[in-house]
Amino acid sequence: LATLTYENKKLTLVNQLVAGLAHEIRNPLTIMKGFLQLIKPDLDRLQKSDIADLLLSEINRTNGLIEEFLNVARPREQTLEKVSIVPFLRSILLLFQSEATLNKCTLSTNLQNLSQPSFAMIDTGQLKQVFLNMVKNSIEAIRCANRENGAISLSVFRHMHTIDIHIRDNGIGMDETTKSKLFQPFFTTKKKGTGLGLFLSKQIIQNHRGTIEVNSTPMLGTTFMIQLPIISAD
Ligand code: ADP
Ligand code: MG
Repeated sequence: LATLTYENKKLTLVNQLVAGLAHEIRNPLTIMKGFLQLIKPDLDRLQKSDIADLLLSEINRTNGLIEEFLNVARPREQTLEKVSIVPFLRSILLLFQSEATLNKCTLSTNLQNLSQPSFAMIDTGQLKQVFLNMVKNSIEAIRCANRENGAISLSVFRHMHTIDIHIRDNGIGMDETTKSKLFQPFFTTKKKGTGLGLFLSKQIIQNHRGTIEVNSTPMLGTTFMIQLPIISAD
């Protein structure tokens, strides 16, 4: 118990440090961004605006990193509610319909093979974050592969005590090195990636007593498999 209290104290301290650091980095970033935007019209005339654009995009990237880092570091209380999984997934996919179309992807669902509704105790905000990460990664993988017929599909399989949710895409896929590192914080193969999406997603799934696994073939595509415990339907 003593160690636990010690660990807790240590964690609070780390959280405070992280929040403070983020704040300290964000302030100068905001100031630099403001001034750059202010002088950009003059730079345009001098044809130096490429440099300004580069600086602005690096500032935005840093800001994004801080934002996502805070999402990971911030202590959050899980608020669980009983949710019917399939309608929940449908509502999330709806959010991505336009972005998928823009990227020449089709988004399809295979949610029919459930004879009865499946309920799970979930934190809807957190799980929404997970599926947003997944679909975003799939869209990026498809864009990366330059596919004309990009496809993302979501399938749900019901078992006795669990529900499997598979997110499949025909994007660029992954090699073995990427596969072995993708859940590590800050691991990314993207120019503008943060490498926090899957790290955060895994934490959230584990906090729901679930599992997340991946199957992937380079140039063919990727399937993420999430398993969550369900409450018996009654
Ligand atoms: P980010 O998207 O910021 O790079 P993530 O944690 O979401 O960070 O993903 C980590 C890495 O895992 C990505 O950079 C990419 O290499 C790989 N990855 C994740 N999802 C996919 C996918 N659907 N297809 C191919 N590679 C993926
Ligand atoms: Mg991502």
